[in-house]
Amino acid sequence: MLIIMQDEKCPKCGAQLGEVTETSTGKKLQRCSTGSWNSETRKSEGCDYVKWIQPEPEELDEKCPKCGANLVLQTTRFGKKMKKCSTGGWDKEARKATGCDYVEWLGGTTEALDGKCPICGEGLVLYTTSTGKKMEKCSTGGWDREAKKATGCTYVKWLNDNKGSDNFFDEPMPF
Ligand SMILES: [Zn+2]
Ligand SMILES: [Zn+2]
Ligand SMILES: [Zn+2]
Repeated sequence: MLIIMQDEKCPKCGAQLGEVTETSTGKKLQRCSTGSWNSETRKSEGCDYVKWIQPEPEELDEKCPKCGANLVLQTTRFGKKMKKCSTGGWDKEARKATGCDYVEWLGGTTEALDGKCPICGEGLVLYTTSTGKKMEKCSTGGWDREAKKATGCTYVKWLNDNKGSDNFFDEPMPF
């Protein structure tokens, strides 16, 4: 369960934290009430404290293949899902991972569709990203991670009402 502390104080300046706001990609954050963003100078004014609200990890009925502890399902502040070892953590002071470092990113799923690609006539697939967005894409299309460019046919049609601004191939670091 996500618990929002309403009367929480800013650890930097002691002022009240502002309202919980949600970004266009569904991330939740709380800014210090004395801070604001000046779009003319492109700088934040006042206190720049931002608290990202992390969803609580969900306990899984699976064991870590490395150490045998329970796995948890965690959603990052980028909206990506991963399974990680419940003993793993992050030491903010030493800036290093602690405990078991097992992490498995949950990628999207692909299903074959009946239709044909309007560009090349090959089969279409329905791709569901790890964040639940759906797109119809050509089965010959792919992504070359090293060259950072699309390969094969480039036909893609997003089925959700988003603008496709998220790069679903982009996997941020877990911490
Ligand atoms: Zn503050
Ligand atoms: Zn482990
Ligand atoms: Zn195609």
